[in-house]
Amino acid sequence: MLVMKFGGSSVADQSQIHKVLQIVASRRDRRPLVVCSAHKGITDALVATAKAAAERVYDPEAVITRQREIADGLGCPPDLLTGMFDEIRDLVRGISLVKELSPRSLDYISSFGERMSVRCIADYFRRHGLAAEAHDVWDLGFITDSNFGAARPTPGFDQRVQQCMADRVDPAVVPVITGFVGKNERGEITTVGRNGSDLTASLLAAALRATEVQIWTDTDGVMTADPSVVEQAKNIPAMAFDEAAELAYFGSRVLHPSTLLPAMASNIPVRVLNTNRPNHPGTVIQQQPKAYGDSATPTSVAYKENQTIVTLSTTRMFAQAGFLAPVFDVLGRHHVVVDVISTSEVSVSLSTNTRQALVAALPELEQLGDVQVHHHKTILAVVGQSLARQPGVAARVLQAVASAGVNVEMISHATSSPNLTMVIDDRDIRAAVVRLHDELFCS
Ligand code: ASP
Ligand code: MG
Repeated sequence: MLVMKFGGSSVADQSQIHKVLQIVASRRDRRPLVVCSAHKGITDALVATAKAAAERVYDPEAVITRQREIADGLGCPPDLLTGMFDEIRDLVRGISLVKELSPRSLDYISSFGERMSVRCIADYFRRHGLAAEAHDVWDLGFITDSNFGAARPTPGFDQRVQQCMADRVDPAVVPVITGFVGKNERGEITTVGRNGSDLTASLLAAALRATEVQIWTDTDGVMTADPSVVEQAKNIPAMAFDEAAELAYFGSRVLHPSTLLPAMASNIPVRVLNTNRPNHPGTVIQQQPKAYGDSATPTSVAYKENQTIVTLSTTRMFAQAGFLAPVFDVLGRHHVVVDVISTSEVSVSLSTNTRQALVAALPELEQLGDVQVHHHKTILAVVGQSLARQPGVAARVLQAVASAGVNVEMISHATSSPNLTMVIDDRDIRAAVVRLHDELFCS
């Protein structure tokens, strides 16, 4: 079995969905299971509608009209989504009356994007000769905890999915399944988090022991840098799981950070492909990519902007055992997520983007030493398994950044880790990334 996930831009409208139809049809013999996002922009529009409703602006028609235009463009029967549209109106009315948008209501409203898109897509497939059926993923065993906005499947997931697939999915019909959403045990709708359809796909693939997960998107796989910043960005043919995970975390727009975990745990290759150029081989992410072995070059450059850096200094740290423990105890209790850390004898610096949590933790941190906070910082990461083995890479990286006139405020690189991270100012991103990419990939 092959799990194929198509993102919002791949299912944006009739012309994109027709490409998807051809891609799926040509892989019919591999027993595809198709996971879809909402049409591009619909989730954002639903969220905006709900937020406006909580401020008493009742206007569900804009998003409904947008969805209807896409459905009409596909030639779907006019009543295909009538029930969904009514439910959206009722829900938005409810939100506007109570003037409150709880995480639960937000998941409920966000879920309509995928629920509507799979119905339209399956209907289009059928009318164009491909037997297909739409499924809400909760009917296939996707039952989650009640952590709205970041829900995860409850124990017994694999067996449930296998059982539901056997009971409900005809092997002769392509299932077209909602990404992103789920239901808790009480039947309330949850979501796995924004951009989470990738994760749905890899969870289903792991549960069903699929041969491969394909993430169909709008770039030629994973690139050596963000193509919107670096024109010369190139495709990366193969990557190891841990590198791809670092890259996803440090800002590659292509993959959702948690996507790889289930695939990695079950050792299922993840292939990132371009819906607009289906013959391009894309990027394969797996345990030990063949082409990889002794490659000396890093894999890619990524960045994550708008981070906050906290520096705590105190001479009490000097030659003291156990000083960092209380610092991390405070951070842990306040749920401050730390990405990069760097320490010296008298100070520790760390980066986070959980700003609100940090503000709450500050009074306690201030009791431990002198605290300085700086916003608008970027984590710039060079990712590659070869980094720790290759003498001189760090020097080249820092030299390149320096030659772009960019000041590096923090550096971190652990033994055998697949990344070298630096902290720079947000405004220096372009200069640093372009120069670094040039040095590492174009010389
Ligand atoms: N439609 C959801 C979002 O826009 C999930 C996804 O596209 O992966 O966040
Ligand atoms: Mg996406």
